[in-house]
Amino acid sequence: MGPPGAGKGTQAKILAEKYSLIHLSTGDILRAEIRKKTDRGLEAQSYMDAGNLVPDKVLLSMMESTLTELQNSGIILDGFPRTIPQAEGLNNIFLKLNSKINHVLNIHVEESKLIKRLIERAQNSGRKDDTEEVIIKRQKVYTKLTAPLIDFYKNEITQIDGDGTIEQVTQRILEYIQ
Ligand code: ADP
Repeated sequence: MGPPGAGKGTQAKILAEKYSLIHLSTGDILRAEIRKKTDRGLEAQSYMDAGNLVPDKVLLSMMESTLTELQNSGIILDGFPRTIPQAEGLNNIFLKLNSKINHVLNIHVEESKLIKRLIERAQNSGRKDDTEEVIIKRQKVYTKLTAPLIDFYKNEITQIDGDGTIEQVTQRILEYIQ
């Protein structure tokens, strides 16, 4: 977990390679659905472009089918759950699948640094939600809807300082996981 721009996707990719895990990024899955013009992609697009979250029921049905297909694989979830109802839904999915969460990592970075990083990324990402206005909106949505998950997972969460180079942040995560 972590706010937009914290480096979740970058770190998830590195960990997935190191530990042979499947990296599930809901942002990437949704963007692929938009490219393929699926019904779900078409529904998600306007929310994403505006910096809003896609409705919980869309994410939950998407993740339930994906996680059911991948039963018993090791997975890194990146960008999900992002709201309390999604976290509750995930608990139900894992109950059905007899699966569980092993670690919850929260990468934190000061908000002014995040906005600076995202504006830099915007120059070559080509993402429609990478304009300054939408970036600020995504931070607000994070604070309102996603930050409460830190308390939801308070018994299993590990805080990771996300300020530093990619390698430094990876090292901090590995110190905890190994
Ligand atoms: P970032 O980490 O920069 O916010 P992502 O690629 O993870 O970028 O997500 C991009 C957008 O996709 C989000 O702003 C949101 O609209 C949508 N999205 C991704 N995951 C979820 C989720 N779990 N619930 C609702 N919307 C989501």
